[in-house]
Amino acid sequence: MKIGKNKVVTMTYTLRLHDERGEVVQKVDEKRPFVQLFGAGTLLPTFEENLDGLEKGDTFGFQLMAEQAYGNPSDEAIIELEKSIFEIDGQIDTDMVAEGKMVTMQDQHGNPIDGKVIAIKEDSVIMDFNHPLAGEDLYFSGSILDVREASTEEVSHGHIHGPEGHHHH
Ligand code: ZN
Repeated sequence: MKIGKNKVVTMTYTLRLHDERGEVVQKVDEKRPFVQLFGAGTLLPTFEENLDGLEKGDTFGFQLMAEQAYGNPSDEAIIELEKSIFEIDGQIDTDMVAEGKMVTMQDQHGNPIDGKVIAIKEDSVIMDFNHPLAGEDLYFSGSILDVREASTEEVSHGHIHGPEGHHHH
């Protein structure tokens, strides 16, 4: 079975910066492989395109330039927020909210979004919501361990179920 829309793909991969000799950012091995529904809009479209048509046992290695991956950092993603947003009982948890720390917040749709604390001011906190890999060329390599058809329920939910997936019902 070939990788394509509405296929559940199990794979290993190594993500490096820039090219095949770059610094390793993330490594996913056979013990805890990456299992994902393709065509659900959760993966980088260019990532899916590069794996399209591959089958169990195939290996891959491809580069995505920054523009094809997480884009370039933008000033618009750097936002000054009122300090009160971060306060619990009038206090900021300085272990959680400190310069350089990543903080998970919610976007306007209630989806989690990670931001990095750039600076803490008198009444505000400056956050950088650029993707941590924005501006980076990426190199992915790995192998396809399995490809299966997604169930109708998985397709309608946009994520996988079953032993490799989560159970939230
Ligand atoms: Zn579900």
